Amino acid sequence: MEKKRLIIDLARCVGCFNCLAACKDEFAGNSWLPYTDSQMKHDQKWIDVHRHERGAAPYTDVCYVPKLCNHCENADCEKAYPDAVKRRGDGIVLLDPEKAKGARALVSACPHGMISWNDELETAQKCTMCAHLLDSGWKEPRCVQACPLRAISIVSCGDAEFSEMIAGQELTPLANGSHNPRVMYKNLHRYSCCFISGALACEADGEERAASGAAVELYRNGELICSAETDFFGEFKIGRIPSGGGVCELLYYYKGYEPVRTEVTVNGDSVCLDVVRLGA
Ligand code: SF4
Ligand code: SF4
Repeated sequence: MEKKRLIIDLARCVGCFNCLAACKDEFAGNSWLPYTDSQMKHDQKWIDVHRHERGAAPYTDVCYVPKLCNHCENADCEKAYPDAVKRRGDGIVLLDPEKAKGARALVSACPHGMISWNDELETAQKCTMCAHLLDSGWKEPRCVQACPLRAISIVSCGDAEFSEMIAGQELTPLANGSHNPRVMYKNLHRYSCCFISGALACEADGEERAASGAAVELYRNGELICSAETDFFGEFKIGRIPSGGGVCELLYYYKGYEPVRTEVTVNGDSVCLDVVRLGA
């Protein structure tokens, strides 16, 4: 049977919060029983967009990470409360509004923090993937429809087809994937990996110039991990470095100059290096 999945592309998301606004518009003050009771207008978010900054001046970047219930195949909330959590044939995981009433313990049953407590109605709640709309013929949940950059998309497919999509589009789960989430991320390295940035200069005709077009290679334990080329300003950025990269070696190659080798330690944060001067 075809199952619903969401794909979130971090390279597209700009943190406009339209998805959150659409979710509020759909659920705040609107009860969609038997799917869910209404959401609180404030102090409760079924989808939230987290800002993630990397680096230090002058080399910084930022990405936005929309987070919502993963509709896990192997859901801890369902294991803990099989009576209150319902898994539909299309993969959407719902909380039973009747059984969730007064069941505050449900909030801590999700290790990803995706079940929230509605203080006004005294009930546990979470994203329903707009199941009430999909069941009435809508093709997309409100967050998907509202995203101006198509950073969130919904796919309906079988497991084998989705496995191909995961491999082909390099989709990854936000947290460890043992819970088999149905929300997968594209370009997650912008959030989960570090980068190394720096600049290369050289001396020519008695002047210091940007070494543009130089090759920069990063090695760990003698193995090439990533490489980059310096831009017009002699600057480079090597991304996709796992945060526990440890001690690495950088090698700089530029035509007419001796290669330069430096050491760099990556310990969880992105690294911004001083200018390296070739031939100095
Ligand atoms: S993300 Fe949390 S609430 Fe959603 S299905 Fe998985 S365990 Fe349950
Ligand atoms: S609407 Fe789209 S671009 Fe805007 S924050 Fe949500 S996912 Fe990102």
